[in-house]
Parts: sequence; structure tokens; C-alpha cells
Amino acid sequence: MASPAFEVSLQAGRRLFEAGAFHAAHEAFEDGWRVVRGDEKRVLQVFVLWVAALHQHTQGRGGGARRLLARALERLTAVAEAFDGVDLDSLKSAVIDTWGQIVSGDEVRPVWPAELRAGPALVSLFHEAPCPTCGEPMALSIAPEDADGASYIEDCGVCCRPSAISVSRDGVTVRRLDA
Ligand SMILES: [Zn+2]
Repeated sequence: MASPAFEVSLQAGRRLFEAGAFHAAHEAFEDGWRVVRGDEKRVLQVFVLWVAALHQHTQGRGGGARRLLARALERLTAVAEAFDGVDLDSLKSAVIDTWGQIVSGDEVRPVWPAELRAGPALVSLFHEAPCPTCGEPMALSIAPEDADGASYIEDCGVCCRPSAISVSRDGVTVRRLDA
């Protein structure tokens, strides 16, 4: 799973990227790049270089843009194939498309790459809900394989009454089981 700093930086940069604010997007990606490590750092650097190239292009500096795109593609080759935050083939195609559009003089229309979500996207693995019998908080630990949907029974640690827990990608519900 991607680190929180990577996610926050990627999504903040994405909003600015989609608004065409490439210079601001560059800073958002760079903020994340400073604190993450390993492949996440390499991938954020690809985004930093890509949006820097888009910014250069909007400033009429096509040569500088192409050099930045070449560096972005070079960084991509150093990322492990199993990277799970962003689809690397889709990112590579997006960078190459930008390059082709700049070289051919076509309108540059950058497309955000596909993102990959390993594991649960919507359900947190740790969930707290009041016990439906006594109202005390129950700390539920959801197994990763249950995050897409599961039902089970769990006893409250305080009043020991059982509750029916159901997990779906929309959330977690806790229902009183009356004996
Ligand atoms: Zn209870």
C-alpha cells in the first residue's frame, strides 16, 4: 500500500494537474518527493519532471520540456514493476504522449494515468464503533481479505454480548444480536 505522504502528494498534485496549474502541481509533487523513499520517491520525481515539462511548454520552452520528459522516462525505468500506487505503463504512455504532442506541435492534452489501489480502498482496517448493547466503543480489526465484504460475529469486550459485524466497501455496520 502506498504511504500516506505519497497518497496526499499524488492527490493534491492531481487536482492542480487537472486544473492545468502545472507549476503549482510541481510543488505539490515535490512536497511529497522530499519525504517519501524508494520507488515512491522515484515515481513522484517522474510526476515532478512531467508537470515541470508541461509548465515549460506553456512558457514556450519546448526544448527544456523535452529534456525534462527524457529524464522522467529515465527515472521510470528504475522503478520496480510491482509498484502499487500508479500503473507504470499508463504513466509511461502519458509522458510519451506529452512528448509526442510537443514534438509534433499538436495541442498538448496530458491525461492522468491509471491509479492502482492495492487492498481496501474504502474500508479502514481499524474501525471503532459503539457496542449496540452497552454503547462502549468496540475496536474492530478487519482482516484485509474481508475488506471487500464479510459478515461475522464479535463479542463486546465490555458487556460480552455478541454483535453482527458486516463489512462492505461502503463501510462497516454493527448490529445487535439478540439471544
Ligand atoms: Zn458491549
